[in-house]
Amino acid sequence: MNKYTKITASIGPKCEDCETLTRMIKAGVNMCRLNFSHDTGDVQGHKIDMIREISAELNTPVAILIDLQGPKHRIGNFETEDKYPLEIGQRFTFDTDPTPGNSTRVQLPDDDVLASLNIGDRILLNDGKIEMRVDFASPERVDATVIRGNEIWSRRGFNLPDTEIATSVLTAKDRADLEYAVTKKPDYVAISFVQKPEDIAEVRDFITQRTSHPIKIIAKIERPNAVERITDIAAAADGIMIARGDLAVEVPYAAVPAISRHIIRECRKMNKPVIVATQMLASMVTSEFPTRAEITDVANAAYLRADSTMTSEETTIGANPVNTIETMANILSHADADAIANPYDWSRVENMPENDWSRSVASMAYLNRASAIVVFARDTIATTQISCRKPDIPVVAICNESVIANQLCLSRGVFPIYNNELFGMRDAFNAARQFGINSGKLVIVDEEKISLRTLD
Ligand code: PEP
Repeated sequence: MNKYTKITASIGPKCEDCETLTRMIKAGVNMCRLNFSHDTGDVQGHKIDMIREISAELNTPVAILIDLQGPKHRIGNFETEDKYPLEIGQRFTFDTDPTPGNSTRVQLPDDDVLASLNIGDRILLNDGKIEMRVDFASPERVDATVIRGNEIWSRRGFNLPDTEIATSVLTAKDRADLEYAVTKKPDYVAISFVQKPEDIAEVRDFITQRTSHPIKIIAKIERPNAVERITDIAAAADGIMIARGDLAVEVPYAAVPAISRHIIRECRKMNKPVIVATQMLASMVTSEFPTRAEITDVANAAYLRADSTMTSEETTIGANPVNTIETMANILSHADADAIANPYDWSRVENMPENDWSRSVASMAYLNRASAIVVFARDTIATTQISCRKPDIPVVAICNESVIANQLCLSRGVFPIYNNELFGMRDAFNAARQFGINSGKLVIVDEEKISLRTLD
């Protein structure tokens, strides 16, 4: 049996040729992430076309995720390219003046951001290596005291963990990127630095005004205010990415595992797939083997029944992207097999919504020791909901549209097949056999009808 936990692979310079991508998909990639922080427009469009061709050639559904850069903030330039010394306790000013900065001040190019800061807010620069605290705030100028860090230089990114930034979640660049991306009919769009459920509604409006293609929206959780509103954000979005890179800057890093676990649980309750992202196999950028800690991190995502793990630099600029995917798939297969041998306790009340019909499906499968659940999927909703009950048996989804099959690639334990003609009982048996299920009972779900059949 294939692994249950899916793999989202970030696509970049080291893996965007047809041969490498084909090998990665054969090795276990279920969703390709195209990061619009780097390439945009036709450069990304060409990759989308190539992934679609490989998917058709291999007769394997693969989802495409467009990841928008979002409002990633940077300070302005300094007088020279040199690093400027900082002293703990010194005063540092951020202002609207475009004149190059020095060791006491620099421009903060986004007026919205400057105006959102309040006294006491933290300003974290350079991945949190510099920490300052605001002690004077006005729309044109903010003064802060240096708490941590000893040097600063041009164009450093910064995070504001205590600040609700009064700005659109879509920057001008995101709008231009999304305008192009929707023409390529991706399966998912990921929004960076989501703060509230209204951010999802804004992007959904933008998309639906431009296309009728049913693009799904993934909210990237990387800000403390998003963690606080995770239930509402999960309700508004179609899926969640735990973007641990920025998250570990914005919240105390030691809190990241507990927050991740909480988010995975909330997603299960809200029937939304969840991706665990960033630095999962980071050492494989240069190394042939992962570290013991990375192996355990990937396995833990599977044990927590996350829907997908994700690769970042290890596939975009790594020494051997195919080896990285084979390694991740190998770790996931082992963890999934162990998890399946010790089935998930589906009956735990905290894990599912009350009066949920998918609970009956999971419970029928569990009590009858079924070998698989087969769903006739006319949309993604029923299958995603069943997957979120974590039945720990394969959920084979026969999809009548290719976009449904692609989108279901993200859901844990779901094995989608696209064929708009296969909607009879015999087709359910054949679909199960296609995934190596040759005996036992099948729970078959066709809209509201749930039946139990013995595979013959
Ligand atoms: C992250 O911060 O973990 C992440 C996935 O976002 P990005 O790589 O787009 O910065």
